[in-house]
Amino acid sequence: MDEPPCPIFCPVCGQESEARAAPVQQCPACGAQFFIPSSEDAAGAEAFESLADQQSAEQERLNRRRIRAVQLERRSLYRSRTYMLIAALTCLGAAAQLIWLAVEGRQVAPPMIMGAQIVLAAGLGVLSIKFLRRASTYRAQAETTHLAEPTAKPDFSTLRNGSQLAERLTDMVSTKTSDDPSPD
Ligand SMILES: [Zn+2]
Repeated sequence: MDEPPCPIFCPVCGQESEARAAPVQQCPACGAQFFIPSSEDAAGAEAFESLADQQSAEQERLNRRRIRAVQLERRSLYRSRTYMLIAALTCLGAAAQLIWLAVEGRQVAPPMIMGAQIVLAAGLGVLSIKFLRRASTYRAQAETTHLAEPTAKPDFSTLRNGSQLAERLTDMVSTKTSDDPSPD
């Protein structure tokens, strides 16, 4: 057998067995002969469609969750950028004030005080440049978040793949045949 074994269910007794590479299947338990329902079967196609719908709904939910995560990340990046800008402006303002004080008191204040004021102003200037750089980094990150992969690995456990779909189909169709011959 080239194909991997696929479980089928006897429509008479419900016994699970492996599908044979033949058009007609025989139950190993009760000996009943039956066909494997094809996917062209109306009920099968219907079931397949509803399962596919379910899958795309799950995919959509996952996408929405991802978009929301990206939006939150962007918002927090922009917020951090705003903080950095405020910090930079505060430093610049303080530096300007220190320089102004130094210039104002250059006649009366001792040179030590003036020197300290100038050094402090220079330090604040350097700090504000650092804050401005940080701000532009955050902005650049925020602008690329729509391309970035989510930091947390997405949860794929709720997603089904094709084989599970086929399994459920077989299961569905076989139970339907054994329970009730009319479609619901
Ligand atoms: Zn049987």
